[in-house]
Amino acid sequence: MAQARRTKIVATLGPSTDDPAVLRAVLEAGADVVRLNLSHGQRRDHAQRVGAVKRAVDALGRHVALMLDTRGPEVRLGPVQDDGVPGEGACLQEGARLRLRCASPESLSEGGAAEASVNHPDLWRDVVPGTRLLLDDGAIALRVASTREGVVDTQVVRGGMLRSGKKVNAPGVQLSLPAVSAADASDLRWAAEVGFDWVAASFVQHAGDVLALRRIIEESTGNMGIIAKVECRAGVANLESILEVADGLMVARGDLGVEYSVEEVPVLQKRLILAARRRGIPVITATEMLESMVRDARPTRAEASDVANAIWDGTDAVMLSAETAAGRHPAEAVRVMAHIATETEAAGDFGAYLRQAAVSDESTTTEAVTAATCQVAAAIKADAIVVPTTSGFTARMMARHRPEVPVVAVTPSRAVAQRLTLVWGVIPLASAALSVAPGDGEAGQQDFFQAALAAAERAGAVAAGQLVVVTGGVPVGIAGTTNFLQVRSLGRVLCRGVGIGHLSAQGSVRHVRAPGDLEGVGPDTIVVAVSGDVPGFAPALARAAGAVVEAAGFTSSAAIAALSVRRPLILGVPSPHDALRDGEPVTVDPVHGLVYAGRVRVAGAGSPGS
Ligand code: PGA
Ligand code: MN
Repeated sequence: MAQARRTKIVATLGPSTDDPAVLRAVLEAGADVVRLNLSHGQRRDHAQRVGAVKRAVDALGRHVALMLDTRGPEVRLGPVQDDGVPGEGACLQEGARLRLRCASPESLSEGGAAEASVNHPDLWRDVVPGTRLLLDDGAIALRVASTREGVVDTQVVRGGMLRSGKKVNAPGVQLSLPAVSAADASDLRWAAEVGFDWVAASFVQHAGDVLALRRIIEESTGNMGIIAKVECRAGVANLESILEVADGLMVARGDLGVEYSVEEVPVLQKRLILAARRRGIPVITATEMLESMVRDARPTRAEASDVANAIWDGTDAVMLSAETAAGRHPAEAVRVMAHIATETEAAGDFGAYLRQAAVSDESTTTEAVTAATCQVAAAIKADAIVVPTTSGFTARMMARHRPEVPVVAVTPSRAVAQRLTLVWGVIPLASAALSVAPGDGEAGQQDFFQAALAAAERAGAVAAGQLVVVTGGVPVGIAGTTNFLQVRSLGRVLCRGVGIGHLSAQGSVRHVRAPGDLEGVGPDTIVVAVSGDVPGFAPALARAAGAVVEAAGFTSSAAIAALSVRRPLILGVPSPHDALRDGEPVTVDPVHGLVYAGRVRVAGAGSPGS
């Protein structure tokens, strides 16, 4: 079976995904998180998109998170009148002068090639003669010549077409804009109300910016995680303290490439991804990943490599912006991205490469246990790691090691499951069955883990017969400790006894009451008898896969036969002819003294000959 994709995909919604069929195709193609960028479009459009996503996700049967991307402390041009072709803007010539009028967002005046307005009333205080200003992602470069109240006079260093609403970057300049504008605060309250899961905070400069957003979220009714978009020099400089308070990170390469230079972005990307991974918080690599697909149906080779390399860098998620929001092939872009991800993940040395990259040198219990869980899962070739988790912490810490097998995170909290959609390799499941407070003591804990396994099985994330590793924190419900690891076979136990042997066996039940019943016993037979006293029992057992008997004791004839012919046996099973139906397939696990219905994988006990 082909492994499910581990890298997550964030797809930005916009006019191109407004057709419900297109949106459905984008989700079906594998979008795990959908992003609405409040820097573009009206609240009304975004509200409609939220409604459309909720309707589409209901039919999808998996968690998909909603992410709001804030406008942030962004400086943008006011309206610009076209001086030629409509929509093409005004032509700025190199060496010409451009006056910028500093205005409030409400009082932007229309501009042209000689003068334009910007939405930051204090820009003239923040810059000095010589400051570089970059417009439209660096397409146009200006140098500040002089400033006076409300005015910044500049000289055009690199000309181009000046267009309405384009972003103005002042690399390295600490702008005196509030981290959360009135518009952002209103957007946040709206997002909390309609049920967003993530907020991507634009232009985070220091930890205080994240906290300012957090305060508004906490004052609202929402339950949103905060992704710090690191896209300017201050954000990079304060990275560690930002990560201390953020729930996720975005490598916002668009603005990084303007605030720094493009050639510095690849190295920054690696640094940022590693920093987030060390802390076990999800990181998104964003912007221009499949840019040519805005137009074309196929990506360039360089773009395919870019997506693959971000995955090799260890990113949790890759993001599509204009490709899905405003492009011609939104669903195809997601499909292409998903294919690149699965292909990259399937590369023979990818997993080993990711795992050997040391993610942490701390030695907390959580780290030791999650690392051990990965090793155990790999050693026994487990089908999944199941993580019952109340806060999502254990699931994130588990994913940080990039385990070979899927991490199924089962949580009582829908909000936690929604946020885990962003985390590499995690299949999140919310289950109301877990919300019952676990009882005291070991029995209560076991119920909680059992409920998690049952929920995972109901959702189809694991299946009967599989071998899984369960890890979590005990006592349940206290975040921050992962101290528990258990190997479990997912099967229905038909009966129990005492086992002899250490290899499990699978076969069809053969009720043996008389010597004639031993005829035709072969390697696919599990002999079921009251005792080993039936004449011919030992030679028949030598041909069989294993046996189950009612007689007890290691000196019973059945036990002696099993030891001498080296076949697994379960002793002391009451009324085995009633417990097991003639002909039914079963698995005998002598290590635990269990007989399972059907074919079940048992740890450390591969069936002989398999
Ligand atoms: P943006 O952020 O799309 O909101 O500008 C991403 C980036 O800067 O890369
Ligand atoms: Mn940006």
